[in-house]
Amino acid sequence: MSSLIHAYAATAAGAPLQPFEYDAGPLLPEQVEISVEHCGICHSDLSMLDNEWRNTQYPLVPGHEVVGSVAAVGDGVKGLKPGDRVGLGWISASCAHCRQCLGGDQHLCRSKQETIIHRHGGFADRVRCHWSWAISLPANLDAASAGPLFCGGITVFAPLVEFGVKPLDRVGVVGIGGLGHMALMFLRAWGCEVTAFTSSEAKHAEAKKLGAHHAVNSTDKAALKKLARSLDFILVTSNVTLEWGAYIGALAPRGRLHVVGAVMEPIPVATFGLMSGQKSISSSPTGSPLRIAQMLDFCTRHRIAPLVEHYPMAGVNDALEHLRAGKARYRIVLDR
Ligand code: NAP
Ligand code: ZN
Repeated sequence: MSSLIHAYAATAAGAPLQPFEYDAGPLLPEQVEISVEHCGICHSDLSMLDNEWRNTQYPLVPGHEVVGSVAAVGDGVKGLKPGDRVGLGWISASCAHCRQCLGGDQHLCRSKQETIIHRHGGFADRVRCHWSWAISLPANLDAASAGPLFCGGITVFAPLVEFGVKPLDRVGVVGIGGLGHMALMFLRAWGCEVTAFTSSEAKHAEAKKLGAHHAVNSTDKAALKKLARSLDFILVTSNVTLEWGAYIGALAPRGRLHVVGAVMEPIPVATFGLMSGQKSISSSPTGSPLRIAQMLDFCTRHRIAPLVEHYPMAGVNDALEHLRAGKARYRIVLDR
């Protein structure tokens, strides 16, 4: 098979994506090559495109919510063979021998490779990764809508496990976009009492259909005040500065404010706001390969699938504008 990969790339910050070919060279022994069938668009793709985090290298091929079939395997690949359906998310390799990798926290490996940082991602006909990050898709999961699980999904699923969210807990989700809508579905199935915080009036009813018991305006300080000391866990998926003090106030004693949205401004924290109620603030990136596999099982068991809008991959620029305008309901998937 030729090592020439046909992709869509931007050559400058904010520039439209254009057809772009690159030679990926020989497949490494532990790599798999995935023939891309679908690829979700995460807000992180937009942030990378715009160089918002100041680490983008151009040409940039975005795309890190891939579903496809294994096209080729290196000699050292374990557990996968050509034709297998797999997904690939934010991370495409980890070292396998550091303490974090040995402990099952491969997503915290210092030398991990992110799929769209210093390498090319999934808005392409093919993409490569280490075999351990190509996660098998259960046969009864819909491949066309599963891509968003591999970044957005695992980012909101992993904290429920990592921080011991219980079915008895009252949980808030802030920002009902790509990540937030999946969080609502997960939390409803997890057994929690779920409150959606959204800045979009139109999403109140939709959030309830997705699994929320309550919907609250995320920017209404008075509404937040009424929720004082009521929520055990608040998962922030929006990437904007919020009324942080009001959200910390809405936490019950022992509560946790968990931020997965890439908020660029520092979050000011008054120690006393945390101290008397023994509250915490935390954050996390994606999840380990095992956690991703567990999330896929959970989705199968509870019939959870992201709500997606489909665009052809050739229409990637229209799709990016749709997301940029805040119009995606709730995740866009590019189809090849
Ligand atoms: P998205 O689909 O664009 O959703 C973001 C949501 O934030 C919007 O739908 C909106 O929800 C809310 N929001 C946006 N602007 C707002 C404003 N001015 N005021 C209040 N709320 C606002 O984005 P996404 O793909 O879910 O990603 C969300 C964030 O998570 C991004 O920063 C992304 O880079 C980050 N991320 C982090 C990880 C990680 O590993 N930690 C992984 C993936 C993504 P409402 O309309 O409901 O208000
Ligand atoms: Zn992402």
